Amino acid sequence: MAEKRDYYEVLGVSKGASEAEIKKAYRKLAKEYHPDLHPNDKVAEAKFKEISEAYEVLGDQQKREKYDRFGHAGFDGGSGGGYSSSGFDGVDLGDIFDSMFGGGFGGFGGFSGRQQRSQNRPMKGEDVYIGVTISFLEACLGVRKDIEIRRLDLCDVCNGTKVKPGTSLENCPTCSGTGQVKVTKRTPFGVMSSVSTCPNCHGQGRVINNPCPSCSGSGKKPVTKRININIPAGIDDGQTLFVSAQGNAGENGGPNGDLQIAVTVRPDPLFRRDGFNIICEIPITYAQAVSGAEVVVPTIEGKVKYFVPEGTQPGTIFRLKGKGVKKLNSYGKGDMLITTVIEVPKNLTAAQKKYINDFELTLTENNYRKRKGFFEKLKSMFG
Ligand SMILES: [Zn+2]
Ligand SMILES: [Zn+2]
Repeated sequence: MAEKRDYYEVLGVSKGASEAEIKKAYRKLAKEYHPDLHPNDKVAEAKFKEISEAYEVLGDQQKREKYDRFGHAGFDGGSGGGYSSSGFDGVDLGDIFDSMFGGGFGGFGGFSGRQQRSQNRPMKGEDVYIGVTISFLEACLGVRKDIEIRRLDLCDVCNGTKVKPGTSLENCPTCSGTGQVKVTKRTPFGVMSSVSTCPNCHGQGRVINNPCPSCSGSGKKPVTKRININIPAGIDDGQTLFVSAQGNAGENGGPNGDLQIAVTVRPDPLFRRDGFNIICEIPITYAQAVSGAEVVVPTIEGKVKYFVPEGTQPGTIFRLKGKGVKKLNSYGKGDMLITTVIEVPKNLTAAQKKYINDFELTLTENNYRKRKGFFEKLKSMFG
């Protein structure tokens, strides 16, 4: 086989040519050299083959990139090399005329409608993700917050239609609006016909000839929105909150995506959470533990008084029913669990120590049940 010519050279366009320029050049040359217009003209046939092959590559974004990087080597024996190893590929004149004159030859049959619908069906927009940090009490009690999000809204100029106001989408000239193209290839088993997604419109069937200048034809624009969200009582650190329809705008009139809010809860100096229960350590004095005392206990709804009974041991947990966190998506509340921490006094004077020791001397085994049991066991083990 002769040395292949550069595809850009074949189509007579520059390396930096736009998609539109390439398409235009291809259409012009294909019309000029189509074999049906030059029966038995081997030169025209070869030329047409070369043009078709070049356009198959340069007309496809991915293949073009591959070609720009690797040249013809990128296609030898590969999927894009169909034209080089076979004879005339039987590109239908109807296809060419379709592409030149915008669909005079009609679609390819019943399959096309379904494909087109699926490509143009309304699609929900993407979700938008954001993080928000709230205080422990806000998580327990719920809070409304103003937050700022970045998302894609429908373009306010074209209202999401992607086209310049006053113009409309046009039928794709390559597939005449069907979204599909027929590809015929010669294989060792004969000529095979298959249908693939139109490379020009990516199956949409419509093309934008006059893109909206405001959104460059994307139909969407990034916007910063301030929205007020309700963070429900009971949410916990690491949970995600969904706010429906505050994500990116949908496609083809589809609904907006959702807003997903990752919630971080700042630790609290007093409280910890265990599910919907709240744990709080209360330091009490040695004397309070001995004699019993009314102590002030913080809860998420304010201070309450609690009577610590006499003889309270370190680590005793008292339960305040229903003083915990409201159950998220459910009824009722968790409990408040108060853990008593008995603080042993430090830095006593000699006189103070003497009081304690004198007091200690008045105590008997009956005042120290645990100690008594412990020493009895020790005795029975070691004598
Ligand atoms: Zn627009
Ligand atoms: Zn098309």
